[in-house]
Amino acid sequence: MASKEGSFSIEDMKNVQINIGAVVKEADEWDQEMGPFPKPGVATLRDWDFKICNRYKIMYSPADDTCTLCTYGPCDLTGDKKGACGINMAAACGKIVLVAVLMGTCAHTAHGRHLYHWCLDKFGDMPFDMGSEILVDAPLYRTILGKKPKTLKDFGPVLNYVEEQVAQLLACTHTGQEGSYLDFESKALHAGMLDSLGKEVSDLIQIVAYDMPVSAEEDYSEWIWVPPGFAHGNTFTEDTVIEYLCSGEYSPGNEAGISPIADDLDWSLCDPELASLFQQIAHNTELMTDKDRNGFSLASWTADPRSENFLYDELN
Ligand code: SF4
Repeated sequence: MASKEGSFSIEDMKNVQINIGAVVKEADEWDQEMGPFPKPGVATLRDWDFKICNRYKIMYSPADDTCTLCTYGPCDLTGDKKGACGINMAAACGKIVLVAVLMGTCAHTAHGRHLYHWCLDKFGDMPFDMGSEILVDAPLYRTILGKKPKTLKDFGPVLNYVEEQVAQLLACTHTGQEGSYLDFESKALHAGMLDSLGKEVSDLIQIVAYDMPVSAEEDYSEWIWVPPGFAHGNTFTEDTVIEYLCSGEYSPGNEAGISPIADDLDWSLCDPELASLFQQIAHNTELMTDKDRNGFSLASWTADPRSENFLYDELN
């Protein structure tokens, strides 16, 4: 629209609507430089996706060898056959994967959208503040948009972004739009990123608007790395929640344990008061499983050939 210089008086104006656009640049105290790909589009990270897909080969286990995704079908995709739209079995599987990821993305993002409107209507705009204990609030928002949310309203543009991307991705699943299974996988990875962002938005809005706990001040946990082959156990002197992050899948048939109440365990390095407390509790508690209570003694475990599989000595 052409613009004219001059001046006008608002008092004289009738039946005029004034639209003020977004502030293009505002002073921002954030010291992070903008990354190379803020708000990545469907193809922005395609090269990177391809690297991942080529490094970790995709394995499909098709539930069906017939595609019925459009009215040209059903199409028989067995062997080297292609459907009427030209896709083969791998592309049909990639398409289903993308649709499945988008279903989750829509579910989570729609929840975020609903919360966004609901909370703005109910509470008005609110400051986004996760307290002083969180080092990086809104990590996905920051990474993907290159900005920091400051108020509830800052989640509007990110929801717009996710919804636009979802519409574009879903369009790619329309008959004849995409034929490469690798591109479907790249788009599924993009959709997965959007899904995580949509979930983060939902979480953050409800935390801020409903004053949910942000962090447990002074009650935070610590992670301990237990080297492979290192026999370990825990005891807690108060109610505690413990999480295990395992480097492999849990395999019940491949585990063995030394009983924490085995007579030949050396407690000499343990705080004596704690060792005594443990002995009192461990021998009487009903919380200890039979598997632990009846586990190996240290001597019987050392004599068991399976103990040779544990590599802790070699790591030293
Ligand atoms: S999407 Fe393609 S393969 Fe599937 S039914 Fe339609 S034409 Fe056939």
